[in-house]
Amino acid sequence: MTTAQDLRRHLHSLDGRNYKAYKAVRGHYTFDQFTLFIDYVQGDPFAAPSRLRVRVPQTVARYPEETYENDSRRIGLENYLATAVAAAAETAVSRHGSGKSGLLAIDAPGQTMLPRSCLQVTPEFVEAQIAVGLPAQGRRVLGRSAAQMLCDDLPQLVAQSLLYASNDPQAIAQYTATAEDADFLRSQLKMRGLVAFIADGAILPRRSGVDERPLRGPNVIPWQGPAAFQTHVTLPNAGEVSGTGIPAGVTLIVGGGFHGKSTLLNALTHGVYNHKPGDGRELVVTVENGVKIRAEDGRSVSQVDISPFINNLPFGQQTQQFSSDNASGSTSQAANIMEALEVGTHLLLIDEDTAATNFMIRDRRMQQLVPKVQEPITPFIDRVRQLFSEHGVSTILVIGGSGDYFDVADQVIGLENYQPHDLTAAAQTIASQHPTGRSSEAPAPFGPVRLRVPLPRSLDARKGRHDTNVKTRGLHTIQFGTETIDLSAVAQLVDPSQTRAIAAALVWAKEKVVDGKRPLSAILRQIQQQIATHGLDSLSPYPGNDFAACRPHELAAALNRLRSLQTKPEQSTTSSA
Ligand code: ADP
Ligand code: MG
Repeated sequence: MTTAQDLRRHLHSLDGRNYKAYKAVRGHYTFDQFTLFIDYVQGDPFAAPSRLRVRVPQTVARYPEETYENDSRRIGLENYLATAVAAAAETAVSRHGSGKSGLLAIDAPGQTMLPRSCLQVTPEFVEAQIAVGLPAQGRRVLGRSAAQMLCDDLPQLVAQSLLYASNDPQAIAQYTATAEDADFLRSQLKMRGLVAFIADGAILPRRSGVDERPLRGPNVIPWQGPAAFQTHVTLPNAGEVSGTGIPAGVTLIVGGGFHGKSTLLNALTHGVYNHKPGDGRELVVTVENGVKIRAEDGRSVSQVDISPFINNLPFGQQTQQFSSDNASGSTSQAANIMEALEVGTHLLLIDEDTAATNFMIRDRRMQQLVPKVQEPITPFIDRVRQLFSEHGVSTILVIGGSGDYFDVADQVIGLENYQPHDLTAAAQTIASQHPTGRSSEAPAPFGPVRLRVPLPRSLDARKGRHDTNVKTRGLHTIQFGTETIDLSAVAQLVDPSQTRAIAAALVWAKEKVVDGKRPLSAILRQIQQQIATHGLDSLSPYPGNDFAACRPHELAAALNRLRSLQTKPEQSTTSSA
């Protein structure tokens, strides 16, 4: 058995040696309150930091069972603890020395509570994965500093942040209750015929386009839903709450510019995830497979059947297997919808701000000027009801610019000074008083959704001398071999740790399940199953990954934006209904 004292002595003995000598401390050590695993030792003070795990047995950590008795609560607790460790790490250590010397960090969550590989609670133990910069002077080992970091500061950090007794039980209860209530609420949507719920009192606006924290101040208007959509739900912890239930079908969000339409749609877009206490969106939930759709001109598309929306392109380009290295606004939006259907979805979320106008609408005057035979696009307005009747796919659509949509809407929510009103009846009256005069351009049913089989050779992760060279940069970029995957238009990717998990999942899938026979949907199911049975870390052979859970939709989004991707059509078809 190797103890903390052995580690201290060993580190002291390395003092002044070449930095590479640190490699010898890899292994595991028994401390008073925990086991320390040194999984990876950096080769250089400026390189990616070393990776540790601290495992505290429940006999020491002593979390009451109710704090982790189901997945919802456990994930709430894990997010609380990751935040607590991050706060303790910030105060614990003074950084001195070269490169990353003295760094002590955990992959802390943002506003979203996701399962994360950096923190794990089980009935047996609590484990935190920590990144450490082993101290150096130039490129020499600072053995005494390292000993102080690992043998004094680290145990103090554990005592401060990982034991139940050292944490605020009320704060923990808030995290576990918030997560459990949100999951419960989401589970209630379907049986109530809803696709989303917004609790009264919710705070929807964010501080800025790059700051997901809630907007604060006297001018912030909390959500207060219209009576027509008033829904009551009894939650396991919060008890009875009231709010706005958005029914399945076609919902329009209308209102003047700057009256809060996009803010509402963004909150719904992120309602597929749970948010931490104090976020303001704790009880804003959307069906878990809801997908934000937008135009994304310039993206690549690989053999997607966009024929329900686009046909008879110039030069006879066919659209049952549409490919493009540089899709237009309308073809990219069509591909985004068809790819969402291929993965499986019950809700599309669309904002006119980021939609292609010619994809959304063709009014009477334009129908007369440019006859249908010259227009490849069947606009969304003529497909939105078929999506619901044939595939069970609802749509929530922000549209301040076209009343033609009144004809196809089940309900209309109007925003005025950030306050919602039921405008359904008024919109219907206007629709009957002022017929649009346009004719539907949907010639036939929407039809089946075709599945695609990714071809293995088109997923090439090689670069230079490496067989697999896959990296991420921030939230929106994956470098896959020599290709760069741009995810900046993927709205429901919220955490760079998700991006890392997606990159690893692509490599895992390429090595294990992409065989030229399985359709994409089956590949995605196998990735999710691997994560469910073996954990997020099992996607990678390396320690210290800092992964967060992602949905099959974002995984597919990454693969679909790999410019080298090639697919062939699968014989069978699917419907999401
Ligand atoms: P729209 O899409 O209708 O043009 P936005 O949703 O973009 O409007 O909102 C316009 C501005 O109003 C944004 O800066 C947003 O942060 C702010 N805002 C939105 N909802 C609220 C609210 N409930 N209280 C205060 N400010 C809000
Ligand atoms: Mg807007």
